[in-house]
Amino acid sequence: MFKCLLIDKSDDAGYRCGLTELDEDRLPDTGDVTVRVDWSTINYKDGLAITGRSPVVRSFPMVPGIDFAGSVVHSGHPRWKAGDAVLLNGFGVGETHWGGLSQMARVKGDWLVALPTGLSAREAMAIGTAGYTAMLCVMALERHWHDAGVQPGSGEVLVTGAGGGVGSVAIALLAAAGHTVVASTGRPQEADYLKALGASDVIDRASLSAPGKPLQKERWMGVVDAVGSHTLANACASARYGAAVTACGLAQGMDLPASVAPFILRGVTLYGIDSVMAPLARREAAWQQLAQRLDRSKLAAMTRSIGLADAPAAAADILAGQVRGRLVVDVNS
Ligand code: NDP
Repeated sequence: MFKCLLIDKSDDAGYRCGLTELDEDRLPDTGDVTVRVDWSTINYKDGLAITGRSPVVRSFPMVPGIDFAGSVVHSGHPRWKAGDAVLLNGFGVGETHWGGLSQMARVKGDWLVALPTGLSAREAMAIGTAGYTAMLCVMALERHWHDAGVQPGSGEVLVTGAGGGVGSVAIALLAAAGHTVVASTGRPQEADYLKALGASDVIDRASLSAPGKPLQKERWMGVVDAVGSHTLANACASARYGAAVTACGLAQGMDLPASVAPFILRGVTLYGIDSVMAPLARREAAWQQLAQRLDRSKLAAMTRSIGLADAPAAAADILAGQVRGRLVVDVNS
């Protein structure tokens, strides 16, 4: 038997998510590797799945949790054997395939990544999809800057949704690389937290979230945007000539009310960042970089642990923008 969160939906009882105990033979037979999960996490998408706010879950019943870290128990996949330490992000896990907010998971071996040396299972989930996505954004910016000959410290880099998971990890990574990071937040009371992660300046997100002009004063050498909508449009409109903007999130909205002006008049490049279906080689590169580059004391400062039973309340909190940094879930507590 194992404990997990289970989402179900019916005409009578509606959409519901609760803690339950299941027999191991209920695990999906479409997976070829069984994993004993040690830690999982709550991302924004888990909040959407657990509350049912958006149609993230595609089949029912569903175990939510787009991430997990643990060890292999049984494997029918050539890359994995019992005892291997592994992690998983995305691939529809927690949406179309049973996920990580569970003591056990059965998934495709092709979806797993080896836990990088030097990273514990808890640290990997403190990073989670949010931190891995932040790393994908930073890698895209760095490829762009490398090609453009831009040096760290030669301009400001904007991080939006700064107090959240993607934002917090992006600040720590960019600051460690020597960049001047400007954090945009709706929580001015978190300014000290954001500066401790490495932000040089903290701005009110209201300065970016309303409709703005198609071209604004040039400021950003790069952008990590977790927010979308007018914020992303304004970030593009105030990007410097030849700058790069990475778009990974939609916390403000899925719309993009922008003009082509920044792209055709200032040569700004907009990179779309997807973590869910990113190819294995890019995932492994991102996780190796995270293990090498992310300051563990900053990671600890942005992380709080909860138990499996606390996950539904945490899901509502993350959608309300009330979670600072990252939440890890001890699925065995
Ligand atoms: P969090 O909830 O941890 O962070 C989101 C942050 O956005 C909040 O903390 C808040 O920061 C800010 N925010 C919330 N609501 C609004 C609003 N209405 N207007 C402007 N800012 C707002 O989520 P994550 O960091 O885990 O994820 C961030 C986004 O990235 C989500 O939209 C998520 O779906 C997306 N994402 C996409 C991935 C991909 O593969 N492309 C992977 C992972 C995440 P503050 O209080 O500091 O303003």
